[in-house]
Amino acid sequence: MERKVVSYDKLEESIDFLKSMYEIVRIVDPLMKRVIKYDNNGMEETGDVCHSCWEDDKICDNCISVRAFLQKDTLMKLEHTSNKVYMVTAIPIETDKRSVVLELLNDVTKSMLMQDDSYTDIEELKKVINNLNALVVKDTITNLYNKRYINERLPVDIIKSVLHEKPLSIIIFDIDGFKAINDEYGHPVGDEVIKLLGRILEKYIVYKKSWAARYGGDEFIIVLNDTNKEEAYDFAEELRKTIETSTLDIKDIKINITASFGIYTAFKEELTTNDLIDLADKNLYKAKAAGKNKLVINNN
Ligand code: GH3
Ligand code: MG
Repeated sequence: MERKVVSYDKLEESIDFLKSMYEIVRIVDPLMKRVIKYDNNGMEETGDVCHSCWEDDKICDNCISVRAFLQKDTLMKLEHTSNKVYMVTAIPIETDKRSVVLELLNDVTKSMLMQDDSYTDIEELKKVINNLNALVVKDTITNLYNKRYINERLPVDIIKSVLHEKPLSIIIFDIDGFKAINDEYGHPVGDEVIKLLGRILEKYIVYKKSWAARYGGDEFIIVLNDTNKEEAYDFAEELRKTIETSTLDIKDIKINITASFGIYTAFKEELTTNDLIDLADKNLYKAKAAGKNKLVINNN
């Protein structure tokens, strides 16, 4: 179905009307995480960071605007500040200036607290909302981010690295001989190995600059923003050694684990999410072929 292109000026004009129904109405660029602003001459200005309204200096985990933008579909979620709960609706709109997301926010604190006796105070409600939002983007076994988060967060990091001319490194690693662990000790023990990797990764991830996700099966992804080739290599090598020297102690058995790593550092390269993952994945394949428990970076 062909999508209708809306005039940007018309969209801005409709904001006053929308404000009669919604407390906050704003147009955002979900990849740059900015509220869009144009000056009187039609020149784009840098707007506020969209997630600052949540009294949070970090990108929202469950960002529905980027999901609405990528899926071209209207989505809703609950979000909160320190003392208010909002229903957020994100509508992707193709305008003659660019693709944007229209965000409509309504304060639903009172109705949420009164509707059900189980949520009698805001702190309780905030916990429920945080848990719900985490559920959408977290892997249940490891509590790391899941594939959905990778697909929605990586484009944001790629665009930022290109615009700010900063290197972006991605590490993909896969447990060596994991099938044999499952076969020998059973699937639940295999799950414990995956959980152990999750715990190791949590310790390695520095707030804001990097994040880690379970890509699926025994494969994991780490994204290191503003991190060059050498730094990414050192990071992965330290992690490789930590995994190699960690053991899973379970039911009187000790299981040693190793993993193979593929790394790719992009610098001033306009790669899609899939391109970037593929480049790192090819290096992972080379690391496996070279005998496992190894790192391979870029094309060298
Ligand atoms: P390689 O060294 O080449 O990576 O060999 P491998 O044996 O690790 O093979 P591969 O990575 O292809 O196999 C992954 C296995 O992980 C296959 C699948 O049965 C198993 N697996 C996938 N998800 C889970 C899970 O959630 N729990 C457990 N226990 N096993 C899983
Ligand atoms: Mg494997």
